[in-house]
Amino acid sequence: MSACRCACGYDADSADDLTDHLGEQYIPADDMAPADTALGGTVHAEAANDNRACVCGFAAGSAQALDAHLLDVFTPSDRIGADGCHHSARDEAV
Ligand SMILES: [Zn+2]
Ligand SMILES: [Zn+2]
Repeated sequence: MSACRCACGYDADSADDLTDHLGEQYIPADDMAPADTALGGTVHAEAANDNRACVCGFAAGSAQALDAHLLDVFTPSDRIGADGCHHSARDEAV
């Protein structure tokens, strides 16, 4: 569906697939949030013993909510991913 297409042209199978795609583009290897975001300079990742909580202390309550938290934290203001391309869900108001 077009609602699951990324601005870079990536055609996701589902909203979850698109979330995974955006996470791959935005989340750095060290899990450090970019400096230009609200929680910049802190580490965010799935807690080792709980896939519904973030190591920052955020209790998401579900794996989907945790994914949403991680994307919130890691999405740069310019939405430019690691490959230098613009990534965002087509149905978002940008
Ligand atoms: Zn976090
Ligand atoms: Zn993309």
